[in-house]
Amino acid sequence: MDIRSQIAMVFHLDKCIGCHTCSIACKNIWTDRKGAEYMWWNNVETKPGTGYPMKWEDQDIYQGGWVLKHKEIALRSAGKISGMKNIFHNPNLPGLDDYYEPWTYKYSNLFDAPEGDDQPVAHTISLVTGKPIDVKAGPNWDDDLGGSMDYARNDPNMKSLSPEEKKIMFQLEKMSMFYLPRMCNHCLNPACVASCPSGALYKRGEDGVVLINQNKCRAWRMCVSGCPYKKSYYNWNSGKSEKCILCYPRLETGQAPACMHSCVGRIRYLGVMLYDADRIKEMASCGEQELIDQQLDLYLDPSEPSIIEAAKRNGIADSIIESAQKSPVYKFIKEWKIALPLHPEYRTLPNLFYVPPLLPAMGAVNDAIYDSTTESLFGDVDDMRLPIKYLASLFSAGDTAKIRMVLNKLMAVRIHRRGVTAGDMEIKVVEAALEKTHLNPEIADAIFRLTSLPKFEERFVIPSAYREEAIEMLENTGDAKGEIGFGFNSK
Ligand code: SF4
Ligand code: SF4
Repeated sequence: MDIRSQIAMVFHLDKCIGCHTCSIACKNIWTDRKGAEYMWWNNVETKPGTGYPMKWEDQDIYQGGWVLKHKEIALRSAGKISGMKNIFHNPNLPGLDDYYEPWTYKYSNLFDAPEGDDQPVAHTISLVTGKPIDVKAGPNWDDDLGGSMDYARNDPNMKSLSPEEKKIMFQLEKMSMFYLPRMCNHCLNPACVASCPSGALYKRGEDGVVLINQNKCRAWRMCVSGCPYKKSYYNWNSGKSEKCILCYPRLETGQAPACMHSCVGRIRYLGVMLYDADRIKEMASCGEQELIDQQLDLYLDPSEPSIIEAAKRNGIADSIIESAQKSPVYKFIKEWKIALPLHPEYRTLPNLFYVPPLLPAMGAVNDAIYDSTTESLFGDVDDMRLPIKYLASLFSAGDTAKIRMVLNKLMAVRIHRRGVTAGDMEIKVVEAALEKTHLNPEIADAIFRLTSLPKFEERFVIPSAYREEAIEMLENTGDAKGEIGFGFNSK
């Protein structure tokens, strides 16, 4: 057993309001630079929709992630050796049209316009060419269903639906949407790391953050095509690839990453997980429908004495083990099992999990009074406006039973809390809802508490790093010499 520690995350999708504060916080700190204008290490897309870059989930186009070949996992596009044939021409890269051409406005028109009868206009200017452009796309162009028929019907997850189901989804009164915030998943089995011919990408031993050594990057861009989530980007100005660094300078000083700290909906949770690195390959090579359970099996119980002993033998500090014991992520994914990974079928074993959206739940009404005698006061999860098959395509490799169980748990918590706060639910209805989902009132209250009323320290449980250890870590990774990072500290 090779126990390591990993920073993992949970996003609660019912709480995301699509405000994009997370994206802006990240952009202001990390990608407000030449060559990085089009990059959104954190982006928020509207689902159903085509996303950013366009149709990123369609691996027939981009060939990202891993597949099973003769019962062994292999990179879908190619490995380091066979990938060499694509090294001078990589056909699987998204182009600028798939992202969007970044732009600004010619503000000087507003200030320098001569006096006249017309209102001056600040024209759009390309941030790549400096010339005027007609804006045709943006990082969340299909925001809030805008142009839904053009964007949502091209969502690759729609393939899982029958023509009849699709038709219903596009009836105006039945349309539905939710926001999907995305960032690098700092995967346990990162395809970006395996794709790089230069060995520039690596996973930090101390917390599992996936980074790119800027000195070693040779601009082959195999990480861009290899990542199935399209979360590695090429900087056309520096000639190097870049990606989310999980704000590791903030983590090392006990602060939450900027996107999480600034999250208005408080949908984000972060904590340490302990896992067994020896079993990664075996787990990533199992059948598609087993992937989620196998990944959850990799994460170990940090309160179990034998695990604590093995972790200490592997040099994991007491402060990290204590953080793992308080991790909110452990509760969501292991204890309660209400958060699922995005596209587990890509086999990268992502460390970002999502509580799927229950979406607006309307109460059943009889003569204008809530009918609390029925178990389906809030309706049946199978009758939700977003078909279960669609959510299963996103979060459980098509396994509808897994999604149904999670949604039923969220519904049971809602029914239980309605009983507690409004007092108008029949006891037998509450008990039936909890029993069906293997919950009890204490667990339902704990889920409600961590979902609705968590304090900052409950959402983000970050191990305290000693300053000396942080400096040592920087020296070992080369950052103190300006070898990684984005040139802020290079001579
Ligand atoms: S999400 Fe993509 S870039 Fe991030 S670690 Fe996984 S494979 Fe690499
Ligand atoms: S800041 Fe939070 S609530 Fe706002 S879009 Fe980002 S994840 Fe959603």
